Order: sequence, then structure tokens, then C-alpha cells
Amino acid sequence: MVDLRHSCGIFGVYGCLDAAEKVFYGLYALQHRGEESSGIAAVSGERLIWHKGMGLVGQVFSPDNLKQLRGHAAIGHIRYSTIGQSSWQNAQPLVAEYSRGQVALAHNGQLVNALELRRALEAKGSVFQTTCDSEIILHLMARPEYCQDLPGLMKGLKGAFSLLILTPKEMIAVRDPNGFRPLCLGKMEDGYAVASESCALDLVGAEYIREITPGEIVRIDKNGMQAESFSPARPSHCIFELIYFSRPDSRIYGENIHLFRKRLGVKLAEECPARADIVIPVPEGGTAAAMGYSQFSGIPLDRGFIRNHYVGRTFIQPQAGHRFQKAEIKLNAIADVVKGKRVVVVDDSIVRGTTSKSRFGLLRKAGAKEVHVRISCAPHRFPCYYGIDFQLKEELIAANRSLEEITDFLAVDSLGYLSIEGMLSCTSSPKDYCIACFAGKYPVPIGEVMKRAPEALEEWEEKAGEHVIVV
Ligand code: SF4
Repeated sequence: MVDLRHSCGIFGVYGCLDAAEKVFYGLYALQHRGEESSGIAAVSGERLIWHKGMGLVGQVFSPDNLKQLRGHAAIGHIRYSTIGQSSWQNAQPLVAEYSRGQVALAHNGQLVNALELRRALEAKGSVFQTTCDSEIILHLMARPEYCQDLPGLMKGLKGAFSLLILTPKEMIAVRDPNGFRPLCLGKMEDGYAVASESCALDLVGAEYIREITPGEIVRIDKNGMQAESFSPARPSHCIFELIYFSRPDSRIYGENIHLFRKRLGVKLAEECPARADIVIPVPEGGTAAAMGYSQFSGIPLDRGFIRNHYVGRTFIQPQAGHRFQKAEIKLNAIADVVKGKRVVVVDDSIVRGTTSKSRFGLLRKAGAKEVHVRISCAPHRFPCYYGIDFQLKEELIAANRSLEEITDFLAVDSLGYLSIEGMLSCTSSPKDYCIACFAGKYPVPIGEVMKRAPEALEEWEEKAGEHVIVV
């Protein structure tokens, strides 16, 4: 399991008296999608009220502030930054007031025409208060040409956007025409819930109905639910959501994540066999694929690593230059399992390579005779501009290195990646997936400015930073 920052998670409830409390639990279920900040906006009478802060859901919310958020509708957000600094100002939901009243917005994804849109809005007089691309959507909502035309506004956005919008009158769910990020709809006894992943619906007792269709706007208010399409669907779902990001008990793009990952493992064993005594997963990301690998190869599965669940992003090294690496504190090899054995270790991905190197090194230290690494996805060679934080090609270990060079870097006996075709063959609709970070073919063209990352990102931060209000 690599240490990638995910994109974000969103959850909304309409039609329940304790909506904010349900959103709180929904966000808990989605915590793996973002640990930087958490926030909830709720309808209270005719007004929106909100609370947000830096940190995990359990750190930001207390019974007291949840009580104040009482109302029949609420949306929530947990965040990792892809564009924009990690700061309170950028925590979502973003809340604003314009000619049509109050509005709150929660966004999962990344706009690829963000800089162009922001420049155009600034030229018309907009003043931005955050450095995140999501604020652009609020400014567009306030423009006279779009304030009554949400479908028209959505047509102008390019890239990845799964959105929840809350006003005192309604909750609106939107998904971009490519459906890059997941978004699903659930029914509750007296209302509806919308979630990034179905595991959040399960937790609050909502019955899964369907995904929000790519290119669809779903409005939910006191009269019920209404759906309209603002663009034909052109599905290119993020396949990395299935491979790495989403929770194994979720169902997204019509696939159960755990079973999908098991299929990846079966395919991996077929494509990249190894002579070995045991198969071990890197927990938790490699677990299901290791099961599949073991099942197909007949090599027994065992637990070779133990994960320390208390090491999170907040882990602080007590002394600079301390000899222990975070990776070693997070994971330990079980020497009595691996000693003297030829080990196949299965992981879900290698993106930058440094964490993987120390993890596989632990097996050697623990006495493994041979270490054969098998990865249940293809090598990452290209940046992602649709909401995942590997935006620099230079950061990707496979971008400029051959398989042999990576094997040497990792100091392992052999290395095998699943092929792109192998990955896609495990889905039920291979043509409906984005594989840009593996193959370099981007389903939504990347604006010239974004392509110049990291300069584009620096420009964004600098430009946007001029307007940041420090609270
Ligand atoms: S480029 Fe990769 S990580 Fe980004 S959306 Fe496409 S498949 Fe997902």
C-alpha cells in the first residue's frame, strides 16, 4: 500500500431530522479518502450553518457542535488537497451567499480548466478567498448567465467533479460526464443520501439505489427527487479507485471492490508467476489481490506483515535524523513466517517507490530467502490531473526506469506488474475506464496551463494566495 493522498469524500442527507449526525457517520466511513480537513454544512430553518476544521472527522466534531447543526438536510466533506494548500480556508463545504441566497458546496475531483476559468472570473471582478479549484464553481453560480442555469454551468467545467450542493431549499448532486469519481444515491426511510462510496450508505442504514449517472444532476427537495442530464455520459471512471482508493466493502462502478481486487490477484498470478513457498500481502491494500494470487497459483497465503494502526499522517518524528523510518514503524515483518522462505509479496501499486523499498527490505531483514514482488496494477508512468495527487512525472518511479532498473532500486529478486489489459479484463466494461496514468491517454484534454505542472500549480498557489484571507 503506497502512501498516496486520495482525493476527497463527500456525503449528503436530505429529509432526516438528524441529517448532520448521519453525515458525521457517513464521513467516518469515508475517512480513508481524506484526512486533512472535515466539514459539515446543514440547513437550520431558512439558513445554512456549518462547522469545519483541520483534522479527522472525530477530531473536528464534538457532540456539542453536531447538536448545533441540527436540521433536515446536511452535506459533508473530507479532504486531501490536490490543488490548493492544506489550510482551513480550503476546508469544505465552502459556503457563500449570492443573489439567490446561501449555498454550500462539497467537491470531489479536480477541474483541468481551473486556471483558465479563474483568470476569466478575476477579469470580471471575482475575488477569491481560497486556493482550491472548487471555489470557481461557487463564483460561476453567482454569475448572471448561470445563476438560473446549473446545467449550462456544468457544461463549462472540464475534468473531474462529483459535487454536492446545499441550499436552504434543496440538495443537489452532480457528476461529471466522465464519471471520474464515484457518487451513489441511497434511500432512507424518510429521505435520501448521496455518498462517494456505498460503504457510507451502509453505515447510516440507507439502501443503495444507484450511481449518479455521469453527466447527471439530481435535485432533492421536500417534493422528492428529480433528475436531469446536462451532458451525454462518456464514462471514463478512475480505475485506480477500484485498485487502491475505495474501501473493500464499497460497490462502485457496479463492482464490489474486494472481489474486483481478488480478480486482479488471479490475473496477476496468471501473468506473472513465481516459484515461491508463501504469498503474503502488504496490508491492507494488497490483501485481496494476494488471496487471488494464492488461489490461482496454489501457493499458500500467510500473514507476513503486521500493521501498526496508530501511525497516521499525524505521526511526528521525535528527533530529526532518527534512524527509524515511518514505513518501519507502520509495518513490521513476522520473522517466524518469512525466515528461510521464498516469498511472493503482493501490493496494490508502486508509485514513487521509496516506501515500497523500505517495506520489501523488511522481509530481507526478517530472513526471507527470496523476495518476489508482484503488483496488482500496471506501472504508473504518467501524472493524474483528475484529482489524485501524483501530478509530477518525475515523482513516478516507472516514468523513466525499466523493469530491471526498478527491480534493482527495490533490491528484490524479481518484480512483476499486472498489464493494462489484465487490469481492464477484470472489469465488466473495460472501455469505460480512465487509464491515463498508466497509458498516457487522457480522456479529457488537459489545459495547456495544467500540463506545465509544476509551474502551473505554483502559479495557481501564488495567484490564489494573493487573495487568501487569514482567519
Ligand atoms: S489518471 Fe489514473 S488516477 Fe487519475 S483518474 Fe485516470 S486512472 Fe485515476
